[in-house]
Order: sequence, then structure tokens, then C-alpha cells
Amino acid sequence: MIYFDNAASTKPSKEVLDAYLKCALNDYENPNSLHKNGIRNLTNINRIRQNILKLLDFSFEYEVIFTSGATESNNLAILGYARKNMNRGKRIITTNVEHESVLDVFKHLEKEGFIVTYLNPSSEGKIDIEEFKKAFTKDTILVSMMTCNNEAGFKLNVEEISKIVHENPKCVFHSDCAQTLGKYPINYNLFDLVTISGHKINGLKGIGALIKKKKINLEPLVYGGGQENGLRSGTLDYPSICAFNVAIENVMKNFKVNYSKVTEMHDYLVEELSEIDEVILHTFKEYTPYIINFSLKTKKGSVIVEALSNHDIFVSSVSACNSKREPFSYVLSSLGRPIDEAKNSIRISLGKDNTIEECKLFIDTLKEIFNQVRGR
Ligand code: PMP
Repeated sequence: MIYFDNAASTKPSKEVLDAYLKCALNDYENPNSLHKNGIRNLTNINRIRQNILKLLDFSFEYEVIFTSGATESNNLAILGYARKNMNRGKRIITTNVEHESVLDVFKHLEKEGFIVTYLNPSSEGKIDIEEFKKAFTKDTILVSMMTCNNEAGFKLNVEEISKIVHENPKCVFHSDCAQTLGKYPINYNLFDLVTISGHKINGLKGIGALIKKKKINLEPLVYGGGQENGLRSGTLDYPSICAFNVAIENVMKNFKVNYSKVTEMHDYLVEELSEIDEVILHTFKEYTPYIINFSLKTKKGSVIVEALSNHDIFVSSVSACNSKREPFSYVLSSLGRPIDEAKNSIRISLGKDNTIEECKLFIDTLKEIFNQVRGR
């Protein structure tokens, strides 16, 4: 099998599973119980929070709220901030290339009376600063912009936007970094709220975090026992938190080695793909090497994905979360690519365990399939 769908999910590492099992078997007591073992578990969870902040170079101003993953973190950041701070203003800004767990929240907030501006990035994946400044009024309370895009891998100009956002003390900046953590070097202190997820970094599904500035107040989405400073009630999943900690430690420890290995595979694939007549490559000046996206000139994207799958090669035609709907990349379309390219795109998403041999086999198989499959 060649697994090139690591942006959808990754294989958990053995260390991650060992950490989960050890904790689940030995430290199963509720971290909110007042007995010795409960207190020990909560103390360890608090240590893990500090460790994560340190590993990601956050300043002392931040804190970690554990969630079930990036979807929940995005919901909590955006809904939670907008609802809590609506008395300060009703304008919020995002981009048209966000993950659905951001876009759908903004759509929902429109129904609650918020005025949303959706910005289209340029063909290079950058937000036009003048356009942004026009949309950014004194009533803007929240801007949400991902750092690396999950479908095409381009990096947005979050540094420039962060500067402007912070000229208005009323406004905060959220970034969905689900595809950035461990895959692109970024200064997380650019943001006030940061979304991360375990299963994108060889961790487990069902665990993630919203990292936020302590002084920011949010409206909870889930009420109950008051865990996570009242922001996310429910018994803390200590084993998953241990596993998440190990996944973050590993991804940060091996960042440089993995990045250069993946860059080598990325560059090889881009070079080979650019020589295939059927392929329209979507490349960008700033990107994460973990994601490559291309469209097909004459063939159907879904047919090629299926043919590759029959050879045990797994790629995506659109992001996995979006794949139940008719294949159409709203991301490529928002970048100004033609409809046919948006309908027939393929995403390769690499992981640390892929090899150059797999890349070679992928290219050979793809060429073979192109020769066999008729045009659309
Ligand atoms: N945001 C981005 C950019 C993603 O790629 C994904 C996963 N496809 C999510 C959010 C959702 O993540 P999770 O599965 O952890 O909820």
C-alpha cells in the first residue's frame, strides 16, 4: 500500500499508542476526583499543558484547552469568541479557503446577526492587504485565517494580517493550524487563538487543543462539570492527552529531519508531475511540502483516484471531510482556477514514513493509468 492521504489522517506511532495504553491501564482515575490519584492525574495534565506550550514556543500569555480535535477547536474559538464579545462589534472576517469547520461556523454566525466578510486569496494563496484593510473596520472583533491550506498546501500571509489585526485592541486573530503543526515553521505567537489536532501528526483521532491567550474570554459550547476553566465540560481524556503530548514531542523533535525528507519527495513529485501532459500542477511560492495538488486536463479526478486505489495507492480528490459532496474544490475555485480544474483535482499528502521509492512507483502507476483511462 502507498498511503498518500496523510492530510486526512496519519498512522499513530507506536510511542503514541504505548503512552495511551500505559496511561489508560494505570491512571484511569478521574482527574477531577479529589483523591490522591485524581489529583496526581490532574497535576500531570497541567504539566502536559506547559510542555505543549514550551514545545511550540508559546509565550507565558497562553493556555491550553483540550478538545476532541480541530473541528471542535475551530467551533469553540469562533463561536465562543463571537458570542462572548458581540457587544464589542458584529463584524468578523475569514477567507474562502478555510476548512468547513471554520466556514460553516461563520455561515451559522451570519444567522445569529454577525456580518461576515469572506476574502478570496490571490492565485498565490495570499490575502490582498488593501482589500483586507477595507474589510477591517473598528467594529471587527475576530479574524480567522488558516496558516497552511489543507487541500493545496499554500501558506497564507498570516504575519502581515496579524500586524494589522493587532492594531485594533478589540480584535483577535484565530488560525486553524491543523495542517501547520509539524509541517511548517511558524511563530504561533502571531495568533490569539490556535487550533491543533492529534491525528494529523501521527497521534490519535479524537484529541486536539485550542491554545488561547489567557485574557481572552469565550462562551462555552458544552456546559456541565466546569472542566477546562468552564470552557469545555466533560471528564478529561487523560490517556489521549498523554498520547497527544508524545505526538507533539515527536513531531517537534523530528521537525527538521522530516521536513527535509518530505521536501525531497515533494520536489521529486513536482518535477515528475510537471512533465506529464495531462497534469496541471498547482504550485505556490510559500507552501508546506506535505501537500501537493494537481488537476487533470482531460480525465475525471474521481476516476483516477479510484484507479489508483485499485492499485492500493491512496490519494484524495478533495479533502476527506468534503468528499461526500460532489467532488469540487472550492479552494481551487477561490484561488481563481477554472471550474473544470476544481472538479478534477487530486491531492497527494505526504507523511514522514513515505519514501522516494513510493513516489517513483506512484508516478509510474499514474502514467500507466493515464494511458488506460479515457477522457471525461
Ligand atoms: N482544519 C483543517 C485545516 C483540517 O485539515 C482538518 C482535517 N481535515 C480539520 C480542521 C478537522 O480536523 P479534526 O478531524 O481534528 O476535527
